Amino acid sequence: MVAGIVSGRLALVTGAGSGIGRAACQVLSREGATVIAADKDYESAVETIKKHTALASGSNAVGDHCAFELDVSNTKSILDLFTKLQRQYKAPPTIIINSAGITRDNWLLKLSEDDFNSVHDVNLKGTFLIMQTFAKALTEASLPGSIVNISSIVGKYGNMGQTNYSASKAGVIGMTKSAAKELGKFNIRVNAILPGFIDTPMVKTVPEKVKEGMLKLIPLGRLGDPTEVAEMITFLSSDKSSYITGTTVEVTGGF
Ligand code: NAP
Repeated sequence: MVAGIVSGRLALVTGAGSGIGRAACQVLSREGATVIAADKDYESAVETIKKHTALASGSNAVGDHCAFELDVSNTKSILDLFTKLQRQYKAPPTIIINSAGITRDNWLLKLSEDDFNSVHDVNLKGTFLIMQTFAKALTEASLPGSIVNISSIVGKYGNMGQTNYSASKAGVIGMTKSAAKELGKFNIRVNAILPGFIDTPMVKTVPEKVKEGMLKLIPLGRLGDPTEVAEMITFLSSDKSSYITGTTVEVTGGF
């Protein structure tokens, strides 16, 4: 087994087929965790396991990583995953990373109800459903755990064109703090990360002019790398952060 700060732990990562979720699988596996990569796009989750985990870099002793299809906005899909995981691993994951997320940007005056709802279904309700399902399993198995929710800096400050997205991410912050209060007595910690502008497929849709304007507001003068978020995810997942719960950590280059 790889000696690392999450050695021997089982970690579920949603949105694991891309960006921050994929980087989280990479760093968690590097630090010794067995990784369950779950994504709406099954093929991309498989690619994460095959090409982006410690297993892929030559070690065959990092555990039994696996990829699964999952739609976090769909209760049945989550319960299906839960059943498969119980069968395969016999115990629930003790690290849960909620990274699945979408944007449907538009000006408030033009935003459709569908685009408001779909963003909330994935970003907010999806985080709720995953937390509820897996925290319940942890309490029933009397296991401690760590949940890390990926919110966003725009959940704190807002952003033009993102009334739906920023509201969903503000909701994740409130939900994280409330869940931490409820789950502390079970030794389940819940924290949120607020990334700034991170270089993933999600920001590829941002117009170049807007990107240039954003860069001027970032003291470190560059976009973040998904791995820089994943390092914080892994720290919050590990016992290195054993007295940290209900908090938010900004990973923004100072934005
Ligand atoms: P990304 O590269 O687009 O990755 C998100 C992943 O989630 C994709 O693989 C996507 O699959 C998947 N996904 C979408 N809907 C899903 C669903 N219903 N169930 C399961 N998986 C689903 O984006 P990212 O930048 O890594 O974002 C990761 C998280 O960080 C998100 O919550 C995002 O809001 C947050 N965040 C990102 C930034 C940034 O600058 N990149 C900043 C702040 C916060 P498809 O590609 O098939 O849709």
